[in-house]
Amino acid sequence: MTIRYVFLLLGFSSIFFSSCAQKSTSSIPSTIKKDKEMIQKEGLETATLGAGCFWCVEAVFQELKGVHSVVSGYTGGDIDFPNYKQITTGLTGHAEVAQLKFDPKIISFEEILEVFWSTHDPTTLNRQGYDVGTQYRSAIFYETEKQKVIAEKSKKEVATELWNDPIVTEITALGDFYKAEDYHQNYYTNNPNQGYCRAVINPKMEKFRKRFKDKLKTEEDYNIEEQKKNEKIYKTDAEWKAQLDEMQYYVLREQGTERAFTGKYWDNKKEGTYNCAGCKLPLFSSKTKFKSGTGWPSFYEPLEAKNVESEKDTSYGMVRSEVHCARCGGHLGHVFDDGPKPTGLRYCINSVSLDFEEEKP
Ligand code: FE
Repeated sequence: MTIRYVFLLLGFSSIFFSSCAQKSTSSIPSTIKKDKEMIQKEGLETATLGAGCFWCVEAVFQELKGVHSVVSGYTGGDIDFPNYKQITTGLTGHAEVAQLKFDPKIISFEEILEVFWSTHDPTTLNRQGYDVGTQYRSAIFYETEKQKVIAEKSKKEVATELWNDPIVTEITALGDFYKAEDYHQNYYTNNPNQGYCRAVINPKMEKFRKRFKDKLKTEEDYNIEEQKKNEKIYKTDAEWKAQLDEMQYYVLREQGTERAFTGKYWDNKKEGTYNCAGCKLPLFSSKTKFKSGTGWPSFYEPLEAKNVESEKDTSYGMVRSEVHCARCGGHLGHVFDDGPKPTGLRYCINSVSLDFEEEKP
């Protein structure tokens, strides 16, 4: 049993056990591609790195200038759609990895690897500190021949210069990548007071920030990231169908309505944020939720006015204002002018259009 597992069982047991039943939601099959094909529309490249617990790896690379996104996930194993419970056995062959999208004009793959070598121990086989098992192995999963060459050179030169013992890092072609369960994403940011974060990740982050202070994101970088989060999202019907379940698709993309009292949030009294189920944009807060008696979650105002859009809807012989997510255009419900103070509005929203994120104590 690993140290992180102990922390999870002690401080996080309810979320852990309920989340373990979830299936991983996405797989990004990857084969080696020609280098030029790797430069995507936005000019971003991908790096997939295993360096022990992915909470740590994600936390480090999220702060690096030029890294646009980091997703925690699993790769390098033998079964399809593994979940966290399966990979913690160490029997599926998957490694916990962080998959980064980075801008090579700002940070090179070589520089990313320098951070990689400096922020974990690449000399311990299938182990990082107290975390033991093949899932914690040190690994670079390359996507192009160019990345492979760079990784091998960097292992021989940079890593060997930094470490006295032989480097055991595996350098392998990337196979299928599976995004980990939602509660593993942004783990350090969302759970700064959790035992493992305080005991293991905090000291690591301090060293990393000191050593790479010139490569960290600035406040302006974070502001730009924030702006990008709010940019609109356009997807084809086929893409939405692949992402959403049948009911979500019906309500979000076909302007449907769930039956009253059947959704999961109409009676939810927990504190937290209701995000768009289509694109995760934060839409409503539990603080403005009220008991409407309608059987649909009801709010008297959105979290931010710019995050929702409304338009007149005259279907079913009624005049109502239909409410949509401002980022992905997903249909959420309707807004009426018979709500409570202070706004007098009632945002009557389908549960299925929402994704509730409980506030951490
Ligand atoms: Fe949305």
